[in-house]
Amino acid sequence: MHPILQSSIEYLKGVGPKRAELLQEELGIRTFEDLLMHFPFRYQDRTSFTKIKDIRSDMTYVQLVGEIIHLEEIGSRYKKRLVAKFRDDSGQLDLMWFKGVNFFKNYLTVGERYVCYAKLNYYKNSVNLVHPEMESVIEFKNSIRSKYQPVYHASEKLNRQSLASKNIAKLLLNLLPKLEGKIDENLPEQIIKKHNLMQREAAFMQIHFPKDVDELKKALRRLKFEELFFIQLDLLKLKLVNTQKSRGYTFDHIGQYFNSFYDHYLPFELTNAQKQVIREIRKDLGSGKQLNRLLQGDVGSGKTIVAIMSMLIAIDNGFQCALMAPTEILATQHYESLSELLSSLGIKFALLTGSTKSAERKVIHQSLEEGNLQILIGTHALIEDKVKFKQLGLAVIDEQHRFGVAQRAKLWKKSKLPPHVLIMTATPIPRTLAMTLYGDLDISVIDELPPGRKPIKTVHWYESKRLRLYGFLESEIEKGRQVYIVYPLIEESEKLDYANLEVGFQHIFKRFAPPKYKVSILHGRMPTETKNFEMDRFVKGETDIMVSTTVIEVGVNVPNASLMVIESAERFGLSQLHQLRGRVGRGAEQSYCILMTGNKLSSDGRLRMKTMTDTNDGFKIAEVDLKLRGPGDLSGTQQSGVPINLKLTNLSKDGALIEEARAAANELLTSDPELNQIEQSGLKRYLKNKLGQKVNWGRIS
Ligand code: ADP
Ligand code: MG
Repeated sequence: MHPILQSSIEYLKGVGPKRAELLQEELGIRTFEDLLMHFPFRYQDRTSFTKIKDIRSDMTYVQLVGEIIHLEEIGSRYKKRLVAKFRDDSGQLDLMWFKGVNFFKNYLTVGERYVCYAKLNYYKNSVNLVHPEMESVIEFKNSIRSKYQPVYHASEKLNRQSLASKNIAKLLLNLLPKLEGKIDENLPEQIIKKHNLMQREAAFMQIHFPKDVDELKKALRRLKFEELFFIQLDLLKLKLVNTQKSRGYTFDHIGQYFNSFYDHYLPFELTNAQKQVIREIRKDLGSGKQLNRLLQGDVGSGKTIVAIMSMLIAIDNGFQCALMAPTEILATQHYESLSELLSSLGIKFALLTGSTKSAERKVIHQSLEEGNLQILIGTHALIEDKVKFKQLGLAVIDEQHRFGVAQRAKLWKKSKLPPHVLIMTATPIPRTLAMTLYGDLDISVIDELPPGRKPIKTVHWYESKRLRLYGFLESEIEKGRQVYIVYPLIEESEKLDYANLEVGFQHIFKRFAPPKYKVSILHGRMPTETKNFEMDRFVKGETDIMVSTTVIEVGVNVPNASLMVIESAERFGLSQLHQLRGRVGRGAEQSYCILMTGNKLSSDGRLRMKTMTDTNDGFKIAEVDLKLRGPGDLSGTQQSGVPINLKLTNLSKDGALIEEARAAANELLTSDPELNQIEQSGLKRYLKNKLGQKVNWGRIS
C-alpha cells in the first residue's frame, strides 16, 4: 500500500489538529485512507431546479431558486421557529427552521435571491420546506455542482465545526488528486476481466464524484464486489483449511444399527428431502474429512430423524454421539423421542442437563468415559470439562444458531480427531445470508414437509374480536385439541410484560375455569421443576391451554395442539412469529394461528402480519424479515469468526453479487490454493497489509 494512504488526516489541506480530532471522534477517520473509505450514503441532483407550481407529491427532494420576501420569528422559547416566505416566478411557499433560528435570522436577508434545497414536507394540505440548505445565488454559482453530488454522514457536532456533508465533500476534492496513481489494485486481473469490474482507483474516484449514473453503478459494483470477495476468500480458505488439516474419522461402515432401524423401526417413509440430506451426510462421514454441516429445515420438516440416522452411522462405526439442545425442555423431548425410536435397538443413551442429580451425573460421566454410553443428550452441560467421552464421533447441535466457533472448538477437545459436527436450525436463513454467516460450513436444506400436513391457517385479528377468539378456543378444546397462548416478554420491559402475562393468565383462568378446563402456565421465572411439570402436563394432554412466554419457542412437539394464539403479535419479529406458529400444525388436524394486535400498527407491523397471513414458507418469511430489519447485528450470529464488516453491501439486496463474489473466490482458491501465482501479487500484498493478522491467512505467506 502506498504510504500516503496512512498519512494522518490532520495534514490534509483544510483539516488541521482541531478538526482532525473531531473527525476521528465522530467518524473514526484518522488517515487519508479512512477518509477515502468514508463513502457517500446518497447523491443529490443539484443541477436542476423545480418551479414551485410544478411541485408534485411524488417528488422527495427539490431545489428551488427564488427570493425571500418575508422573514419572521414566531413563538417563544421551545416553540420558537423562523419562517421565511419564499417566492419564485411561479408561486410561493414557506421555509421553516426550528433549529439554528438565530443563525439563519442573521444569514438571510429579505429581498435577496437564494437557492434552497430540501425534502418536501406536507403540513395541513400545504407544502413547505423544513431546514432547507440555503445558499445565495452568488455562492451557488461559485461552487461545483453535479447531478450526483455526494452526501456524507455527518453529525450535529460536525455541522457546528463546519464539517457538514458539503465540507467533507470539499476535503475529498482536496484528497483525491493527491492519491492519483497511488491506489493499488487488489484483485487479480483475470477476475477484473471476467467479472467486468472497474479498476480500484477509478472506483474510489467515481464513488465520491460520479461522472454519471453508469459510472456510479460500476464503481459501486466494483467496491461491493471487493468487500464481498475478501470475506468469501477468508471463509472459503477457512473451510479449505478445516477439511485439509483437520482430517475426520472415516465412517465408511453402514452396519447393524442403521440397517435394522431403517428396515424395521422407521416409523414413516422418509421424504425425498430427508433422503437427500441423509445421503449428503453419509457421503461426508465416509470421506475421511470432518463433516461440518448446517442443516436448515423449517419447523416440522423432520430434522430429528436425520440426526438420529446420522448418529446410528457413527455408532455402527464404534463411536459415541452427543445431541445438544438449547433448553432442558427440548433436550428432554429429544430424550423421549429417542427412547421411543431406539428402544428396540438396544442402544444406550442418557440425558444430562443442569438438573441431573449428582449421583446420576457420576454414573453418566463414568459410563461415558468407559464407552458404555453411546449417545449423550443434553444442554450446554455437555460441553463442561468434566464430561469426557471415550470416543466422540459426531456432535449434533439442535436449534443453536449461536453455537459459534468457540463452542465448537470445545467439542473438538473431546476426542483425538475433531468429531463430525451437524448443526440443525429451523430458522431459515436466506441463501445469500447463509453464504456469509455460515460460509465456512456446508449447507443442506430440507425443503419439503412430511406428507399429509395441512398448511396452518393464519389470521390477524384486532382486539375487538376477543370474544370471538374465546369462542373459537372453546370450540377447539371441545374437539379435544390443545391451545397455546403466547405473550411477548422483552427484556427491556420485563416487569410490565410479566404483569401483562399475569393479567392475561387470570383472564384466561376465569374464562376457562376448572374443573371444565385445565390451564398451564409457563415462563422463565419459574423454577425448573415447575416448568418441567407444567410442560409435561401439557405434552401429555392433561391441560387444554398453555399460557406462556416465548420459552416454548423452539422445538417443542405437541401434535395435538392445533391453535396458536399470539398476543401483542406486533411486538414480535417475523422469524419469531414463524417459529411460534411452527408449534402447531404438527398433527393431522387442521391447525390455526391467530395473531392478536392492538389497533395501532406501524407500517412494518402491518407488513409483518400480512406476511404471516400470506405464507407458511419459512424461507419467504426470512427474506421479508431480512428486508425489513436488515441483517441486524451480525456479530452475534455469525459462526466462522471471520469478521464481517460491510460498508456498502446490503445483504438483503445484493444477493446476486454475493454469489458472484463467492464463485470468484472459490475459483481462485481452487486453481491456486496458496495464492502463489505471480499474478496474484497485488492481492497478496493487500491481504498481508490489511488482513495479515486475521484468521488463517498467516499460513499463506
Ligand atoms: P423439526 O425439523 O422441527 O425438528 P421434527 O423432527 O420434530 O421436526 O419432526 C416433526 C414431526 O414430524 C415429528 O412428529 C416427526 O415424527 C414427524 N415426521 C418427521 N419426518 C416425517 C416423515 N417423513 N413422514 C411423516 N412424519 C414425519
Ligand atoms: Mg427439532
